[in-house]
Amino acid sequence: MTVRQSSKRRDPIKSEVRPKDPAAAKRPPAAPRRLKPAVVEEIFRRFHERDPEPRGELEHVDPYTLLVAVVLSAQATDAGVNKATRKLFAQASTPEAMVALGEERVRELIRTIGLYRNKAKNVVALSERLIAEHGGAVPPSRAALELLPGVGRKTANVVLNTAFGEPTIAVDTHLFRVGNRTRLAPGKTPLEVELGLEKAVPAAYARHAHHWLILHGRYVCKARKPECWRCLIEDLCPFEPKTPAPTA
Ligand code: SF4
Repeated sequence: MTVRQSSKRRDPIKSEVRPKDPAAAKRPPAAPRRLKPAVVEEIFRRFHERDPEPRGELEHVDPYTLLVAVVLSAQATDAGVNKATRKLFAQASTPEAMVALGEERVRELIRTIGLYRNKAKNVVALSERLIAEHGGAVPPSRAALELLPGVGRKTANVVLNTAFGEPTIAVDTHLFRVGNRTRLAPGKTPLEVELGLEKAVPAAYARHAHHWLILHGRYVCKARKPECWRCLIEDLCPFEPKTPAPTA
């Protein structure tokens, strides 16, 4: 009598118990690709609760001085830019006065900032352009701003947000890092992170998201060692490993 093998019988090779990968067991579970909307909402609720009116740190008195300060801030610290602009704006705080001051003098006044030669040239050239094409005013439009010498997407976004109250998000090195670590908006390029944040941030928080995230990246979620132990959103952030509090 032939005994038919049950079709349910397990293949001894396939059913072999494979040895577990000890490294995989130690690995933390993969972080979610993006945060759930309720988590994003809670993150910004906490940022808002702690600091309802966040401010940038570049000193300025109007859209023009803000524009100049932001142009000077590429690859420089805000503190370094403020030190230079205090001297510069004391002599020229309008496009007309900047053109009259001239490139050589502007160069001397900002020589403590990196790339100062090129920046002096751009500051005078953009001032000339503002006078010639915009009646000496800073245009509240991304397209018009990006046509000015030395002004790219990031600078235009800062000016639109800070001077004109638009819900734009300028992705600098801090925002790029925070967007990726927190998974608020993971992306390989600043533009990808910017567009991801625009989509993720709830409308009620869009106006100030830029400043909350930049200040968070600058003072808490630092590049080399994020200070997770004192982070407001530590329980919501999937980044691992978290930095523990320093021991005395
Ligand atoms: S928990 Fe750590 S990694 Fe996450 S946002 Fe806070 S400081 Fe950054």
